[in-house]
Amino acid sequence: MRRIALITGGSRGIGAACVRRFARSGYAVVFLANRSVDAAEALKAELRAEGLDVDYRVCDVSNGAQVRDVIGGILRTYRRIDALVNCAGVAHIGLFTDMTEEEWDALFAVNVRSVFSVTKAVLPGMISRQTGAVVNVSSMWGEVGASCEVAYSATKAAIIGLTKALAKEAGPSGVRINCVTPGVIDTDMNAQLTDEDREALADETPLGRIGDADEVAQTILFLCSEGASFITGQVLGVSGGLVI
Ligand code: NAP
Repeated sequence: MRRIALITGGSRGIGAACVRRFARSGYAVVFLANRSVDAAEALKAELRAEGLDVDYRVCDVSNGAQVRDVIGGILRTYRRIDALVNCAGVAHIGLFTDMTEEEWDALFAVNVRSVFSVTKAVLPGMISRQTGAVVNVSSMWGEVGASCEVAYSATKAAIIGLTKALAKEAGPSGVRINCVTPGVIDTDMNAQLTDEDREALADETPLGRIGDADEVAQTILFLCSEGASFITGQVLGVSGGLVI
């Protein structure tokens, strides 16, 4: 039977790499985009030209009402979701003491509340079918904390806590919940890094380089696969050993 994957943040970066990996592995993929509609359209065209079943919806994942509407529509069309990848996220760099309450709340709405509302819309179907896999995209900064990224680190730590607790709650219903903690990955999110920054980060990394979005996507695909059928509640680092 054709498996269906829903991927948030699918328009760019790690999410777009997941869209390619899942589609090329035989999933029908529906992904969410927000601002990058041109990129989403191009990705859909690229994969449809390969004969693959890929579509997207526009949705601001920080808006719970929009999430409920859009996922309700997806479920009416596709009937079920077998794999959910919560990848949408934004960074915030700056001193903790300069951050406003509004900025704090906005970051938590995109990075954490979205995982709550998207998963809440998808999980009942998985529970009723007694099968399904969810992978949340956290960050190594959620494990070790980053200076000048306190709020971002806190959002990513929250995702780890949510993953572990929900794995315990959903496990008896046959649904697996895991998360990945990428290190430094070459996407738009790191576009502000200078060549010197990139070199320094590569030097600090045991594998001697920064990562590619597809390396994270392959890990996420594995966590959704039969090969990971006895894995739940885990935090899998994809950081080239930067965090050990
Ligand atoms: P990216 O290239 O900047 O892509 C971010 C994605 O999130 C885009 O598809 C964007 O969609 C989507 N997004 C942002 N705000 C959204 C909103 N309000 N509603 C819906 N979608 C929204 O970043 P990336 O590096 O691929 O990051 C993907 C995930 O990996 C994030 O959760 C990030 O925290 C995590 N991560 C990244 C790294 C890294 O080094 N790159 C390391 C650790 C963890 P639109 O462009 O369509 O708005």
